[in-house]
Amino acid sequence: MKKINVAIDGPAGAGKSTLSRRAAEELGFIYIDTGALYRTVGLNAMRKGADLDSSQSIADTLTDDVKVELRFIDGEQRVFLSGEDVSDKIRTPEASVAASKVSAVPAVRAFLFDLQKQLARENDCIMDGRDIGTVVLPDADVKIFLTASPEARAQRRYQELLEKGMTVNYEDVLSDMIKRDYDDSHREIAPLKQADDAILCDNGDLDLQQSVDLIIRTIKENI
Ligand code: C5P
Repeated sequence: MKKINVAIDGPAGAGKSTLSRRAAEELGFIYIDTGALYRTVGLNAMRKGADLDSSQSIADTLTDDVKVELRFIDGEQRVFLSGEDVSDKIRTPEASVAASKVSAVPAVRAFLFDLQKQLARENDCIMDGRDIGTVVLPDADVKIFLTASPEARAQRRYQELLEKGMTVNYEDVLSDMIKRDYDDSHREIAPLKQADDAILCDNGDLDLQQSVDLIIRTIKENI
């Protein structure tokens, strides 16, 4: 039977992963965080000492032994790089920058495309990312474009990093966020943009529970 696919796209820090995870739990779907896949490829490129400003150097790190996999352990997504669980190692600011850089490389997008398609074919899922509604799952049953102002998103990301015990300052988080928005929406391949048939949800003025309710309501009304 055809599986139900929900695509949630939007800029960094809009709360896509938290809200997608909560909505997936509520609906009994699996949650697929595609940003984690790009982060993993970014981590691989960093570890191999690639020049992150060179597409060729990044593409060269995708050797045959590189395997990116998602496994669902107790309902939670963990991401593996050639057998190693890197779910926590991909959450550093350096890995965010590397993810953004590698995601502009066509060979990287092609490398991850089939994996994402296969996961969507096999599971009722909520998949979040930048190009899910536009490129990966253009026939998704529901498409949501989730956004908020850069300041609101930077504030949330800043709190998150502080809670993880990282030493960061808000201005740096904001400028990284603005730079990443710019890079993600101006790259040539699969730029971040709202699909024509996506529903726009702005959660800048909503708290977590209100945002969760909005997403779940929007999905239920449209599947
Ligand atoms: O969502 P997250 O911040 O974890 O994504 C990390 C980076 O991966 C983003 O900045 C974006 O450049 C890239 N990405 C992408 N396409 C996706 C998901 C993430 O290009 N579907």
